[in-house]
Amino acid sequence: MATALDQVRALIRDVPDFPQPGILFKDLTPVLGDPAAFRAVIDELSARLRGKGFHRIVAIESRGFLFGAPLADRLGLGIAPIRKLGKLPYKTERVQYALEYGTGILEAHVDAVKPGEKVAIVDDLLATGGTAAAAGELVRKAGATVGAYLFVVELLALHGREKLRGAEVDALLAL
Ligand code: AMP
Repeated sequence: MATALDQVRALIRDVPDFPQPGILFKDLTPVLGDPAAFRAVIDELSARLRGKGFHRIVAIESRGFLFGAPLADRLGLGIAPIRKLGKLPYKTERVQYALEYGTGILEAHVDAVKPGEKVAIVDDLLATGGTAAAAGELVRKAGATVGAYLFVVELLALHGREKLRGAEVDALLAL
């Protein structure tokens, strides 16, 4: 019998050569557009974190926000956004990072997470791990602890989890 996550997997659309040649982009918008699948994803993500003493969800721009915000609400937690350079209005901490297609700088507000908090970093997809590792660095710079890195999808061939040391790494679907 197909599980709810099998149905989520079936909705993920492969888009070749986006945003540049050679990248097989995993498009999760059909999952977001299907109420049962979207709820199943938030159910599963929240089940992985519930009861483990997390203080906050930290979500990575921009697709991480789509999953992180309902997840935080479901768990009764606040959410801290991590964004690309120049998007956040207040004082920020910055980290440079490498990703599957290019490099960039991530920022978080200096007060987005509080010292001593245990947070879960959430994004839609783990590829090379550079983005999530940079997000972890920002959390640690703020004096907080990364308790978990949690993704909807993990691209196993890219071994991104090897960059994410010192915390549990979990994904709903391995592709
Ligand atoms: P990385 O830093 O390589 O782990 O890249 C992760 C970030 O880039 C996530 O925010 C993803 O949304 C996005 N990303 C990277 N590769 C892909 C891909 N093949 N399909 C969809 N999103 C991707």
